[in-house]
Amino acid sequence: MTLVYIALGSNLGTPIENLRKSLEHLSQKMIIKDRSKIYEAKPYGGVKQNNFLNAVILVETNLTAQKLLSVLQNIEIKMGRVRTIHWGARIIDLDILLFGDKVIQKDNLQIPHTELLKRAFVLIPLSDVHPQMLFEKKISEWINLIGDSKDVWLTGESW
Ligand code: ADP
Ligand code: MG
Repeated sequence: MTLVYIALGSNLGTPIENLRKSLEHLSQKMIIKDRSKIYEAKPYGGVKQNNFLNAVILVETNLTAQKLLSVLQNIEIKMGRVRTIHWGARIIDLDILLFGDKVIQKDNLQIPHTELLKRAFVLIPLSDVHPQMLFEKKISEWINLIGDSKDVWLTGESW
């Protein structure tokens, strides 16, 4: 069994319902061990669109990383995600952040996720469910280094 951190994001339709629905799909394929609180974040990358809801979950699985990626992509498709522009709006985005201690550098899969240390909307929810040390720094230090934590805030939403 491998411990895996997955980032969830949504900014189309009813994002809170999309996060809940995706968790339901995920729970049919893997064991959900923990989930972060639910955060709202300003969209990243200069495309004009609605704010996102973001969360991170910790799961346990026997799947390989490649198989897990296709499970996540199938859930995205089932939920009606249409791939448009990079950094554009989406019903649901499911990204693998960390897969045990594996490092993968394939065209279709990079683990640790390449944006992991660059995005407050990933690191802030991650810090709810991950031990505080991440690659020899505290998650709070990584967050301070990128300095866009004002663009991410806690919602009153619950799972
Ligand atoms: P975003 O970069 O906004 O998440 P997409 O969800 O459309 O964009 O993903 C684009 C591609 O990223 C996918 O086709 C997938 O193959 C690739 N990818 C590479 N590494 C990962 C990862 N760790 N988790 C999820 N997708 C990944
Ligand atoms: Mg993605």
